[in-house]
Amino acid sequence: MDSGPVRTIARLFATVGTSDYLGESVSQASHMLQAAALAEAARVSPALIAAALLHDVGHFTGVITGRGPMRGTDNRHSDAGADWLAQWFAPDVTEPVRLHVAAKRYLCAVEPGYLDTLSPASVRTLRIQGGPMSPREATAFEAEPAAGAALRLRRWDDAANDPAAKVPPFGHFEPVLRRLVRYRGVAGATR
Ligand code: FE
Repeated sequence: MDSGPVRTIARLFATVGTSDYLGESVSQASHMLQAAALAEAARVSPALIAAALLHDVGHFTGVITGRGPMRGTDNRHSDAGADWLAQWFAPDVTEPVRLHVAAKRYLCAVEPGYLDTLSPASVRTLRIQGGPMSPREATAFEAEPAAGAALRLRRWDDAANDPAAKVPPFGHFEPVLRRLVRYRGVAGATR
């Protein structure tokens, strides 16, 4: 049996991924597949498509960290997801995931009108996530190497709540993931 990370992730999409996306009208899996489809349509790098696809794996917290599921809160899902993905993926995949919540807080601080475009659920979690960034935090965010990628990911994240959207199946993105998987110090391991 193929027990590599891509199979593991596929199983998560097929199981816990079918639950609600924090009060939105789409499932978590559909939301992430929509984000990946938007990234693909924007013709960005495979790594950034993968980041869009995987940006909320941290919401699968019960599975990947052993902690209980979230209840309308944000228990650092961006860090949890990025750390989990770092077992197999390089920083060009993991760091936009890590910074996608920070990107929301950044845009709330620097872009007039951005907050008004957010879904009610996203506005609700903003407060728990620290609210809009201070000027000092925004400057620090801009200095992050993955800031630009995280901002692009954030736009797809915000747009990926359409219950009527036709999303590609997870399998559509599997080849992209398989090419990106790497193991620290283990060449040619099962992908
Ligand atoms: Fe999301």
